[in-house]
Amino acid sequence: MSSLSMRLCQTENLIPVLNPFDGKEISQVKQTLALDVEEVLVKAHVGAQAAKALPRHQRASILDKAAYLIEQRNEQFARQITAEAGKTIRQATKEVARCVNTLKLSAELARSNEGEMIPFDAFPGGEKRKGWFTREPLGIILAITPFNDPLNLVAHKLGPAIAGGNAVLLKPSEMAPLSAMALVDILQEAGMPPDVVTLAIGGADLGAALVEARDVRMISFTGGFKTGEAISRAAGLKRLCMDLGGNAPVIVMKDCDFDKAIEACVSGAFWAAGQNCIGTQRIFIQRPLYNQFRGAFMKATAKLVVGDPQRMQTDVGPMINELAAKSIEARVNQALDQGAKCLHGNKREGALYHPTVLETVPHDCAIWRDEVFAPVVILEPFDDLEDALTLSNEVDFSLHAGIFTSDIDTAMTAIDRIQAGGIMINDSSDYRFDAMPFGGFKYGSMGREGVRFAYEDMTQPKVICFNNS
Ligand code: NAD
Repeated sequence: MSSLSMRLCQTENLIPVLNPFDGKEISQVKQTLALDVEEVLVKAHVGAQAAKALPRHQRASILDKAAYLIEQRNEQFARQITAEAGKTIRQATKEVARCVNTLKLSAELARSNEGEMIPFDAFPGGEKRKGWFTREPLGIILAITPFNDPLNLVAHKLGPAIAGGNAVLLKPSEMAPLSAMALVDILQEAGMPPDVVTLAIGGADLGAALVEARDVRMISFTGGFKTGEAISRAAGLKRLCMDLGGNAPVIVMKDCDFDKAIEACVSGAFWAAGQNCIGTQRIFIQRPLYNQFRGAFMKATAKLVVGDPQRMQTDVGPMINELAAKSIEARVNQALDQGAKCLHGNKREGALYHPTVLETVPHDCAIWRDEVFAPVVILEPFDDLEDALTLSNEVDFSLHAGIFTSDIDTAMTAIDRIQAGGIMINDSSDYRFDAMPFGGFKYGSMGREGVRFAYEDMTQPKVICFNNS
């Protein structure tokens, strides 16, 4: 679509949703204008009353039924993810299955309260007091989500929020809002009162206007660092959960299971065309293994099928749009100018950017220090474990890391020393299970997702104390 027709569309309050693979328009969605924020908030207030009034068994049955309905329509959901976000159909199918798990986990939590008895008599003076705390809803939670997992990342916010009795103001990525909209429809079909989730569709301006709303009690954000910084500056006194970017390291020791390391690292680097916050970006290989690893890694990368994500055999689909592909191409070319060597890839066809393997990347290159969020991986040899640990920790933000070794002491040292929200032993950085705490270490890390952990963040304790004196 030309920029003129895009502007015309937007003046009619419609946002075009484009297929990342061929650039064709797949839908138009009605935009919520920043002017409509008042109206959206009125709805969210109605939703907050309705959500709080739902007994726990109803919250649970809505979430369970929604999981069931999505399971029944998994192919339809997967095709939609592929169409709007460009994930390959196999990867999209996996995301749908994970969304079902996320909703089922949320349903389980809705049935419990996770409150506790309080031992008031643990110190003198409290003997005559008895009590407990419950977990109460916060009220209105603003959920802002990115384009790359357009279904399951939304479920990670809606599931725990609904389980906790909250209303949600949901602003999905304007580039891929259709899966989120379909999820909200399914929740309503499963019995959720209409305003418990209020959709607001639009871009940064709308997001910024919602962030400032005083009635919002919590912002649960998943997206990039710059956006996270802007939101935290504008939010004021609100609870914040920030799930931001990564630049994951993986260490390959010479005593590893070689074939397993190759397979996992190739998948970790290029899953979802590298548009994956825990995607493997830097692989440190112990020097005696380096040449063998490099050869096998390039061979396995060359076998990846790049192309139409709707085809079953495709391994690597497009980036979200041509702009993103051009941006990574430019950043790689800049690294090559600074002395990096390209072993494979750095080829672009529209929004398709072929899996790219680099070595000798100077550490002051943006591509080494920042998040690439693209199918680009850096290989680098090291001598001692100590060096690899230092290199792994050199970046000031960190979601996941991985290490391949058959030595338990090496694994324990890495567990102890790597600063990351998750350390995967004998796996790439790219492993996540929806019930585990998920989030980053160091700069920008705020809160954790993973259903129980988000549920705790999205509720507030209320103490009840009987004075029998
Ligand atoms: P983005 O930050 O550009 O956008 C994310 C969302 O924020 C979108 O809905 C966007 O419209 C909205 N937004 C933009 N500016 C805003 C503002 N000023 N105020 C309020 N909202 C605003 O991110 P993206 O390009 O959609 O997604 C890619 C990023 O998301 C990567 O950095 C990736 O690592 C990160 N991500 C993190 C996780 C995680 O769980 N840690 C998961 C997936 C993606």
